[in-house]
Amino acid sequence: MMQKRFFVVLFIALFSISAAAFAQEATPEATAEMTQPCPAGGSPDAVPAADALKVLTSFTTIADMARNVSCGLLDVQSITKPGTEIHGYEPTPSDLVKTQNANLVLYNGLGLERWFEKFMGSVQGVPSVNLTDGIELVPIAEGEYQDKPNPHAWMSPQNALIYTENIRKAFVALDPANEAAYTANSAAYSAEIQQIDEFLKTNLDQVPAEKRFLVSCEGAFSYLIRDYGMQELYMWPINADQTGTPKQVAKVINGVQDNQIPVVFCESTVNQGPMQEVANQTGAAYGGYLYVDSLTEADGEAPTYLKLLEFDATRIVNGLLGIQ
Ligand SMILES: [Zn+2]
Repeated sequence: MMQKRFFVVLFIALFSISAAAFAQEATPEATAEMTQPCPAGGSPDAVPAADALKVLTSFTTIADMARNVSCGLLDVQSITKPGTEIHGYEPTPSDLVKTQNANLVLYNGLGLERWFEKFMGSVQGVPSVNLTDGIELVPIAEGEYQDKPNPHAWMSPQNALIYTENIRKAFVALDPANEAAYTANSAAYSAEIQQIDEFLKTNLDQVPAEKRFLVSCEGAFSYLIRDYGMQELYMWPINADQTGTPKQVAKVINGVQDNQIPVVFCESTVNQGPMQEVANQTGAAYGGYLYVDSLTEADGEAPTYLKLLEFDATRIVNGLLGIQ
């Protein structure tokens, strides 16, 4: 009898805790109205016609953006696969064959793909378009690549609108007959990006300005920081061989303590041990991993760029507002 009562009490307690957590959790989906993707027909994951023009991208995030503008009219594929480290990728002979047979290549530029220039040097007569054309650059503040542009420009929704417009223009140049469709699709996609922009603005406004810190492993959030009035603290400026050294860990520990920062994060594609160490040493919460350089497979947490942005925006906002 006692045992049964214990389980009833336990059940009620667990139910109240999860209900409270559910009620408090802020997500862009909860605040956003649903936008219809692909208003001109098709869908981002529609199978294109066998004779569709072929578009290759250097990494998964921009492939997904491009599929949301193409909506199945073009055959869009990424050269690098989900979860791949993209800065120092080594292209394979089959990547080269695929690219030689493509009609268009989309890339990030800003030095993100350190392998790209040499790779495209071996490809003849295939046009390539730099999607960060027109973006206001943020330089890397320290290290081997100091003063070079930070390449992670897609990590701010406001820049993503520029990527989307560059994709639309590239598709219209490649396939002018479908201009109206690309323009309608990109407008709908941009509206979804703007909803995440709103979510970040509204929620980060609730965090006192001096507490609006984003602590990460790689300095991949410089554009987000700039666009939402935040400050950044990272272990290393850009993914390189020497990561999470004792000196880098000590720098972040000091910064977290000096500024009484409540939460720290680390990117999904790198070792999170050093940042967990920072959390242990400082008493800051470990807010978990963030997605930056690559999407996940379809059954993962960030299979699309909008899901990636939503995931990160939710984690950052909940971490800074102290919602677990
Ligand atoms: Zn990176």
